[in-house]
Amino acid sequence: MSNLPDVDELTTDVLVVGGGPAATWAAISAAETGSQVTLVDKGFCGTSGATAAGGNNLWLIPRGPRREESVRESEVAAGGLTDSEWMFRVLATSWDRIELLAQWGYPFPSAPDGQPLRSSLQGPEYMRRMRRKAHRSGVRILDHHPALELSTDAEGVVNGARGIARQDDGRPWQISAGAVVLATGGTAFLSGTFGTNVDTGDGLLMAAELGASLSGMEFSGAYALAPEWGVHTKGRMLQWASFYDEHGRPLATELGLGGRQDAQRVLTQGRRVFARLDRAPLAMRQTMRDAQPNYFLPLDKAGIDPFTTAYPIRMIHEGSVRGTGGLRLIGPDCATTVPGLFAAGDAATRELITGAVSGGGSRNGSWAIASGTFAGRGAAEFSRGRARGAEHRGVATGLGLGPGRAGAPTVEDVVRATQSHVLPPLRSFLKTADRLAESAAALDTLWRDVSEGLAPVPRRDSYKPRQAIAMIAAARWTTAASLARTESRGLHRREDLPHRDHRYDHRILVGGLDEVWTAADPVLPRLVSSESAA
Ligand SMILES: Cc1cc2nc3c(=O)[nH]c(=O)nc-3n(C[C@H](O)[C@H](O)[C@H](O)COP(=O)(O)OP(=O)(O)OC[C@H]3O[C@@H](n4cnc5c(N)ncnc54)[C@H](O)[C@@H]3O)c2cc1C
Repeated sequence: MSNLPDVDELTTDVLVVGGGPAATWAAISAAETGSQVTLVDKGFCGTSGATAAGGNNLWLIPRGPRREESVRESEVAAGGLTDSEWMFRVLATSWDRIELLAQWGYPFPSAPDGQPLRSSLQGPEYMRRMRRKAHRSGVRILDHHPALELSTDAEGVVNGARGIARQDDGRPWQISAGAVVLATGGTAFLSGTFGTNVDTGDGLLMAAELGASLSGMEFSGAYALAPEWGVHTKGRMLQWASFYDEHGRPLATELGLGGRQDAQRVLTQGRRVFARLDRAPLAMRQTMRDAQPNYFLPLDKAGIDPFTTAYPIRMIHEGSVRGTGGLRLIGPDCATTVPGLFAAGDAATRELITGAVSGGGSRNGSWAIASGTFAGRGAAEFSRGRARGAEHRGVATGLGLGPGRAGAPTVEDVVRATQSHVLPPLRSFLKTADRLAESAAALDTLWRDVSEGLAPVPRRDSYKPRQAIAMIAAARWTTAASLARTESRGLHRREDLPHRDHRYDHRILVGGLDEVWTAADPVLPRLVSSESAA
């Protein structure tokens, strides 16, 4: 018999939940202020999450007039829902922080004129350095420690979290903190996209249980293209693709990156599409292979030379990992609507800098750096002078937290049922009021079906019911926000309402668990150019 207590209890100034770029920037930034910091990751910090598995191109622009030009261009592309002040702050902070990453030894390549090229990061290399820097900054890193719920004091101010240690047979832990940063990533609904197996929306659920609101969830239907048998979705290679139907006839698609969306429209109709990278200049082909070896691996294994042979492609849902929605922020320090709780990276809405369109090509990577920095500093400031170890109230009604119930739906049942309303392109890429209403009703029923718990799981897997519940919650918020936006804009494509409607030149808030609500955000977008709103 062990005489260890039933729960591992720890105390810290700032608790960071997550282990990707947003979490590590938050942890390092909080530690820079002298705070004691603890980071808990569901996986292994440095290899978990979407960035570690792939990499990030960044929105990185030196000081000077080009920044304002970029903000103006982005506002138009983003459907007029952005906030220029946030955009300038993100550009300034990510530029400065990348300079630090260079000082920490990241091997940035140089252009022929000797200028460093810093706008692209290799995921494993980047995240290895982030982990090492966090460690050297004194951050206590607890790997394989998924958080399951947040705790509050008697006034409802967040004062820690609870979770389990997966590699210690699911032993429970409780951490008391002066403030908490949620950096748990986006929600990709276990679609199989490379690196997103941990991105199940846990942070959104934990925050919503305390009343947090979300924003931009209707822009969470991002899809990527991969070879039919592959999961690696670095779709930039496809800017050099020609697309064909299954009879080898060329499809009329836009040249460059826009061709991907045309191909997705054809796939959404249930037709097969083939790609061939025959537009890539000969001189560039080896560079493409060197830049993204993972993209070519499944093709090489299948004996396909993608520059000469057309290969079939499929759409894979990437949800809010390359989409936009997440927790609403109410301050420049990335404070959420719950006191003591801050959010960073894909767990927070990125509408402020990317509006209605995908942030996946560069904005999200810069956002993870900047919002991590703001949230880490904000949480450190908030925690200063706050008492630790006071009362810890959990979420009394937190679904999936209690012991399982024989005969209840299994985790697999719930995940499959939720996915059936999210992953098919006719649910999230192209929407109609009828299909959305059908999904909303089915997901409400599913929510009620799990209200008394899921089927039992071994203690070390007790994070899985929470993942399943988080996925239903995220699907319900996305569906509700998509019904509320009765127009098409950016990633939100309504087949029944194909045009933009200026009555929706505002962000849409959503929240609630048993009863899901939506509302217009009273804080209006801030634009530097009037044409963005046109
Ligand atoms: C294939 C692909 C390519 C991309 N390329 C680009 C690009 O070129 N440019 C760009 O800007 N963006 C890109 N993106 C998006 C970008 O990767 C994400 O925006 C970025 O990873 C967000 O960082 P994050 O730290 O918020 O989340 P993630 O990197 O996803 O990390 C989330 C972390 O939270 C942890 N976690 C989750 N739940 C819990 C829990 N309950 N308890 C504890 N920890 C938890 C996970 O283990 C993980 O460590 C790409 C995405 C994909 C999928």
